Amino acid sequence: MNKKTVKDVSFQGKKALVRVDFNVPLADGVVQDDTRIRAALPTLNHILEDGGSLVLMSHLGRPKGGPDPKFSLKPAADRLSELIGKPVQFVSDCIGDEVKAAVDSLQPGGILLLENVRFHEAETAKDDSCREFAKQLAQWGDLFVNDAFGSAHRPHASVSGVTEFLQPSVAGFLLEKEIEYLVNATTDPERPFVAILGGAKVSDKIGVIKNLLPKVDALLIGGAMAYTFMASEGKDIGNSLVEEDKLDEASELLIDAEESKKNEMLIPVDHVVAEKLEANTPSEVVRDIPDGKMALDIGPKTREMYCEWIKKAKTVIWNGPMGVFETPPFHEGTEAVAKALADSDCMSIIGGGDSVSAINKLGFADKVTHISTGGGASLELLEGKELPGLTSLTDRD
Ligand code: ADP
Ligand code: MG
Repeated sequence: MNKKTVKDVSFQGKKALVRVDFNVPLADGVVQDDTRIRAALPTLNHILEDGGSLVLMSHLGRPKGGPDPKFSLKPAADRLSELIGKPVQFVSDCIGDEVKAAVDSLQPGGILLLENVRFHEAETAKDDSCREFAKQLAQWGDLFVNDAFGSAHRPHASVSGVTEFLQPSVAGFLLEKEIEYLVNATTDPERPFVAILGGAKVSDKIGVIKNLLPKVDALLIGGAMAYTFMASEGKDIGNSLVEEDKLDEASELLIDAEESKKNEMLIPVDHVVAEKLEANTPSEVVRDIPDGKMALDIGPKTREMYCEWIKKAKTVIWNGPMGVFETPPFHEGTEAVAKALADSDCMSIIGGGDSVSAINKLGFADKVTHISTGGGASLELLEGKELPGLTSLTDRD
C-alpha cells in the first residue's frame, strides 16, 4: 500500500484522533453484535502500547439532523471498555467545550469516545459546513488514524475531511488489511481467479461484474440476478425476479464474455423452483423454469459446476448468496458454495452483508481467508473505485 500506516509513525506522548466504525446494532442501549468494535482492537492496542492516547470518533445509524438517544454511542463505549479492559471515557458531543476539556485532560494510555458525529448535519454535508466541522474535529488529535473501512467510501468530515487539517493521516490495521485483500488480490491474483456473484439485484453488482470480468478466469453468477441474465438471452424465467431496465446491459456483458477467449461467465443451468417464496413450501429441481414458478436457488448441477471451479481456483472472491438462503429449502446452493470455499486452500475473500452472515451462520468463518467488514466500501473497491477515506491519507515517501 502506498499510504502511511500506524506502523510508520510514533504515538509516544501523542493524542491519536482515530475514526473507527462502531456503527453497531443496538437494542435497549446494549450492543447486539460487537464484531466491528473487536475489529478495531488491533489498531487501538497498538497505539496504546506505543505510548499514545485515543480520541475515538464514529457514526452510528442515520440520525436525522440532531442528537437522538436511540443513536448514542454510549453503549459502544461500555462494550469497548469490557473488551479492552480499561475505562473508556464518553462525552455527549464530538465538538465544543466539554470535548475540549476532556481532550486536554486525557493522559497517555487514556481512551475517550466522542458522541455520534452524525448528530451534526455538517458531517455528511456537501457544502463548506462539512469542511468547517472537519476543522473542529481535527483539533482533538496530534495525528489522524483512519480505521473505519465500512465508511471509507464516504467523503465525510470525520472520514476524509479531517485529513486537510491534521497530518500525518495514516491507515489503521483494519483498513490496511481490507485494502490488501480486496485490491491486491484482484490486481495480481494467483490463478485460476474466480469471482462468484449473487444476491438480489444485478443493478447493485453490475459495476463489480464489469470491473472483475476482464480480470477473472471465471465469473459465476447466482442469486436472483441470474434471472435477469437468463431473460436477456430470451430464456423463460417464470415468475423469477427480473430487472427489466437492466436487460440490455446484462446481454452486453454476456456477449463480451462470450467473445473474450480468456475467461468464462457462467449462469445457472438448473434451478430450485416453487410457486411462492415461503419456508418449507413444495419445491422441485428443473432445467427450464415453468410458467407460474419462481427460481429461488441454483440447482444441483449448477452447484457441482461452481464447486468444480472453486476446487481448481487459487483465488476466489464471493459476494452475494446463490439463493434465498434465509428460507429453507432454498439455502442449499449457498451452503454448497460456502462449504466448497471452506474446504479449499485457495485465498478466499468474502464481502457483502448477506454472504458474510451466511458464512457465519454455517460456522465457516475461520475457514476462509478474509471476511470483509464493509458492505458498501467493499463493493466500491471491487468496482475499481477510489475510496476518499484512503486517497486522503498521507503518502509513503
Ligand atoms: P450481499 O448482502 O451478500 O451483498 P445482496 O444483499 O445483494 O447480498 O442479496 C441478498 C439477498 O438476495 C438475500 O436476501 C436473498 O434472499 C436474495 N436472493 C438470493 N437469491 C434469490 C432469488 N433467486 N430470488 C429472490 N431473492 C434472492
Ligand atoms: Mg445485502
